[in-house]
Amino acid sequence: MVGDGFRVHNFFPSGYDMPQDRMSPFFLMDYNSKVEFSPTDKPRGVGVHPHRGFETVTIAFHGRVAHHDSAGNSGVITEGGVQWMTAGSGVLHKEYHDETFSKTGGLFQMVQLWVNLPAKDKMTAPKYQGISKEQMTTIKHYGVEVRLIAGEIEGKTGPASTFSPIVMAVIELQAGAEYSFGLEETFNTGILVVDGNVNLQEDYFAEENQFVLFQNSGTDIHLKSQSGAQLLLLSGQGLNEPIAAHGPFLMNTYEEIHQAIKDYNQGKFGFLEE
Ligand code: MN
Repeated sequence: MVGDGFRVHNFFPSGYDMPQDRMSPFFLMDYNSKVEFSPTDKPRGVGVHPHRGFETVTIAFHGRVAHHDSAGNSGVITEGGVQWMTAGSGVLHKEYHDETFSKTGGLFQMVQLWVNLPAKDKMTAPKYQGISKEQMTTIKHYGVEVRLIAGEIEGKTGPASTFSPIVMAVIELQAGAEYSFGLEETFNTGILVVDGNVNLQEDYFAEENQFVLFQNSGTDIHLKSQSGAQLLLLSGQGLNEPIAAHGPFLMNTYEEIHQAIKDYNQGKFGFLEE
């Protein structure tokens, strides 16, 4: 559990068979697979904590997540929506179930990504982008709906602004549907099966809650689903810079980590009420 609101499995960084920068610029993926929460008057979640040097990107598939940070930004992410928070030079934030969702309880499913920032942008000013499902760029084919969050597919561009080249999209396939599209060959690419199951590149089968890591060879992705599927596509150009990770901080050197801890302890990340 992260706090009392997020029951997550951590796909990467794994520390086992996957190098720390294998999905760069995506550094971390926490996945809360489907779980039922009972009704409560006290919203579950994670209290005030700091971040520096990266972005937290939270996608809600079921349930609603609220956010407040010390830069004065706040928002509620509704089903199918995204919170794209740039911590940059540093914020305090808290993340918890939205009050209305907490009162009714119900099915909850979400993903949080930590998107690393290039060295030159690590100390950028904090920023917040709330993107609802309806605000995403839609690509439709027979039995296929792509909701593009960031980057480009088929010449269309998603609404999120990013600091390095990233393609992020939710892809829905109806039962029996197929979809082929192109990505940059050098990008690191992975697909999380959020719902249903899918055949990838003809040869591979993946079911709900599995994460598929692609080789960096070839540009064409081919998907086919017998049952129907909802997929989260992550693809990006690796930053190819040193990584120094410690708790809620993600920098290039351990000197910068020590500085982050010092700045946090001196109150330089601002103030946020619990
Ligand atoms: Mn956080």
